[in-house]
This record gives sequence, structure tokens and C-alpha cells, in this order.
Amino acid sequence: MLEIKGLEVKLEEEDKQILKGVDLSIEPGKVHAIMGPNGSGKSTLSYVLSGKDGYEVTAGSAALEGADLLDMEPEERAAAGLFLAFQYPVEIPGVGNMTFLRTAVNAQRKERGEEELSAADFLKEVRAKAKSLKIDAEMLKRPVNVGFSGGEKKRNEILQMAMLEPKMCILDETDSGLDVDAMKLVSEGVNALRSEGRSFLVITHYQRLLDHIKPDIVHIMADGRIVKSGGPELALEVENNGYADILAEVA
Ligand code: ADP
Ligand code: MG
Ligand code: MG
Repeated sequence: MLEIKGLEVKLEEEDKQILKGVDLSIEPGKVHAIMGPNGSGKSTLSYVLSGKDGYEVTAGSAALEGADLLDMEPEERAAAGLFLAFQYPVEIPGVGNMTFLRTAVNAQRKERGEEELSAADFLKEVRAKAKSLKIDAEMLKRPVNVGFSGGEKKRNEILQMAMLEPKMCILDETDSGLDVDAMKLVSEGVNALRSEGRSFLVITHYQRLLDHIKPDIVHIMADGRIVKSGGPELALEVENNGYADILAEVA
């Protein structure tokens, strides 16, 4: 599904190397987690994959189902099936949540040469999916994320994901700032979307999210590289001992 090889990335504005050769291969249907100390480059990886400005790829490649992601515009990446749930969801005053979702869904269908979803079908679908995430109808009418609580914003990210039905979902610290109940809701939303043809990359600072979203593979990222990979037990090791032992071991 996702194949990253030797990815090196620097900031455009200053001469600062952030990713120093990332290798990562995610098979269809698999859930991979990336953990790592603050500042290790986790968000940068997700931004570069989704096509955010300000970064320069100096070496390596990233492909989605064999297609070169780095050569695509952000909207082409999205239409190809890539989705990024933000660590800090953006507020968009003046744009109704429902309008935003419908526009996004139909823009992707158009990009893929598919027919638009009818207003009635869209409404039925968005209401059902919002309900399962305990997002009430009133929140669908409000401007995107404006005045939403932290938990509501994260649930709204998962609603976007559920509506867009991407193949490769990247969640960047979706758990940060969530209380236990909100984290359970978000996790249930993610788990409901797990399927054979859909992969996930769950970036998290803490192990607790991985109690709810059980990963197949856990990677540890440090200083711009994936320094260790293993099974779910690796997340428990981090929880119990922090990163120090692992970093010393790979140093
Ligand atoms: P993580 O998500 O693992 O906490 P980030 O990808 O956010 O790490 O950041 C990696 C490093 O790159 C940090 O040292 C951060 O300060 C730096 N960095 C990322 N983006 C920028 C930017 N736009 N300007 C300056 N420094 C940045
Ligand atoms: Mg961070
Ligand atoms: Mg981050």
C-alpha cells in the first residue's frame, strides 16, 4: 500500500535536515504505529506524504500502490486514497461542516472520474456516520471545527476519514489532548474502518492509544530515522521504560 525508501527531507526555508533516510513498507489491511520522542520527525513524515509546502525531498521515494506520491499535487494524493488526520485540526470560519464534507467527497469523486453523490445519499451517509461517532446534527451545521472542543475536533477528523473512505489513513497524534472517553470514541471509529484493503499509520506519543487501536507493527522513530521495528510489545516496552533504553541500544 505504502512504500517509503530512503526518504530524506530538509526544510525549504533553512538548511535543516529533518528526515535522514526513512524506510517504511505498509501492506494492505495492516496497521502500523510510529512512536518516538518529540521532535523526531513524525509529523514531518506525515506532512511530506500529504504534500504540505515548506519541505524539500532531497533523496528517496514514497509510493502509494506503486504510484509516485511525491510527484502528485496534494489533491491528487487525496484522490489516490491518502488521508491525513491532523494533530491540530484547523478551524474554518464561514464554511459549514456539512458543506465542507460534501465538497470534499464530491471533489474526490470528480478527480477519480466518478459521479457525484446525490444530496439525499450524502445526507443519509453523513448522518449515519456522524451518529456512530456521537457527533450531533447541530455540529454538522456549524463552521468546520469552530468552537469545537478538542475531542469534537478529533472526532470530526475521523468523520472526514469515514466519509472519504481512503485507502491509506495517517493519524498524527490523534490521541493528544483527548480524555479517555473521547479516545475510546475515536478508536472505535478507526477500528470500524479497518478492512482488508485499507491501511493505517498511527503516529502517537503514548502507548495508551494502542490499547484501543491494536497495531500489527510498531516502529520507533528517533532523529529522523526509524531506528527499531517490532510487534505491539515494542509499544509496551516504551510505556514501561521510555525511549532511553531503545535509543541506547541502537546508538
Ligand atoms: P515530531 O512530530 O516527531 O514531534 P516534527 O516532525 O514536528 O517532530 O519535528 C521534527 C523537527 O523538525 C523538530 O526539531 C522541529 O523543531 C523541526 N521542524 C519541523 N518543521 C519545522 C519548521 N517548519 N520550521 C522549523 N523547524 C521545524
Ligand atoms: Mg511533536
Ligand atoms: Mg508531531
